[in-house]
Amino acid sequence: MNKTTQPSLNTTVTACPSCDLLLSGTTARENHAALCPRCNELLHRDKHNSIVKTFSLSLTALLLYIPALFLPLLTMGILGTESTSSIIYAIFSLFVQQQFFVGFIVLLTAVIFPFFTLLSLCVVSFGLLTDHKKKWMPWMFRHYNHLREWAMTDVFLVGILITIIKMAHSAEINLNLGFFCFVFLVVVTIASQTASDRKLFWSLLEPTCAKTSPSPPEPLTSPGSNSRGASHLVCHTCHKIVWSDNGKTPSHSKCPRCGEKLHHRKKNSIMRTWALLCTAVLFTFPANILPIMEVEYFGVPERSTIMDGIVYFFQDGSYGIGIIILTASILVPLFKIIGLTIILLSIHFQWHTGLRRKTTMFRLIEFIGRWSMLDIFVIALLCTLVQFGFLSTISTAPAAFYFTCVVVSTMLAAVTFDTRLLWDNCESTS
Ligand SMILES: [Zn+2]
Ligand SMILES: [Zn+2]
Repeated sequence: MNKTTQPSLNTTVTACPSCDLLLSGTTARENHAALCPRCNELLHRDKHNSIVKTFSLSLTALLLYIPALFLPLLTMGILGTESTSSIIYAIFSLFVQQQFFVGFIVLLTAVIFPFFTLLSLCVVSFGLLTDHKKKWMPWMFRHYNHLREWAMTDVFLVGILITIIKMAHSAEINLNLGFFCFVFLVVVTIASQTASDRKLFWSLLEPTCAKTSPSPPEPLTSPGSNSRGASHLVCHTCHKIVWSDNGKTPSHSKCPRCGEKLHHRKKNSIMRTWALLCTAVLFTFPANILPIMEVEYFGVPERSTIMDGIVYFFQDGSYGIGIIILTASILVPLFKIIGLTIILLSIHFQWHTGLRRKTTMFRLIEFIGRWSMLDIFVIALLCTLVQFGFLSTISTAPAAFYFTCVVVSTMLAAVTFDTRLLWDNCESTS
């Protein structure tokens, strides 16, 4: 059982990626987690045998990747007619229905990004394990860190389960080999990501020349200080601190360890977040008002909105699924929009109370953002599986495009926002 402790002191100096607090040493003791004393951000969690575990798990996931995506997932039968779908075919059907944007986003989040993240983990951990480090490995691991939350095989799996429950009353469903491969793929993918110790990976990937950069000035900046206007810059990806050797702001434009562009705060963070948030609000209306799915039953078309789908589950007595879809499709996007608006307004009006709570809320927004794609995945599967000609057919409707735009823009809004701005606001008024 892991316990939470204050960071143990050692000679290294790190900065909290969330609030920018400078700390003397944040390496967690064995089986412990190190948290930021100011904002509660998880700074480091010790992971036993991280490299070996990450390599073996990511390699297993890669071996499962092709069968999980290409083998038949489910077979659905109605009155003697059968239809089968694999994940690749479900995505292909979105393109056939001319839902190019939705199809492209599903292709990225369910196929391309999961493959890239697994490949990155496997290659980098193998390089570290065999001591064959290459120049491009930090680049690969940096992009793994950026794309991890956009790889949504776990969300897709929940989408498959909801599709099965939704259709279980009206059709006979058989699980195929692809389904079991996909379940195993998701489990192993989550395990490989959990096993990777990012702090350890970055320290081992660091080029020797980067390790000899200027050291922190003495005495070290006092607790509570941050990098704004100071003689150092903090990399937002690998969290390396780049110190200046002349007491001025460092002139480095790129992180010597991971190659990420260095900046005191993310460029135009507030303006970009506002713009993406406004885009999300604008798309929310057509996403909820217009139909998202069209069901044709014995030649009679019936279009349903997101809310119609939720009401259907409640009327059907499937309260659990109804609550999951209601949370993923309505409550999560609403929470993201309201939460980010509160955070942005509190920076604008310098409300410096409850900063810890606001930072925790932002972490929750980042964490749950991807689960809104659930409804889109369910619709993609239904559109492929329910193709029984005159008997019954399901196809996408215009709201699928608008809803995907809402999910993508709110996720991008969370990416462009720099939580350190929240704490700058606190310091400038204290
Ligand atoms: Zn912090
Ligand atoms: Zn870096």
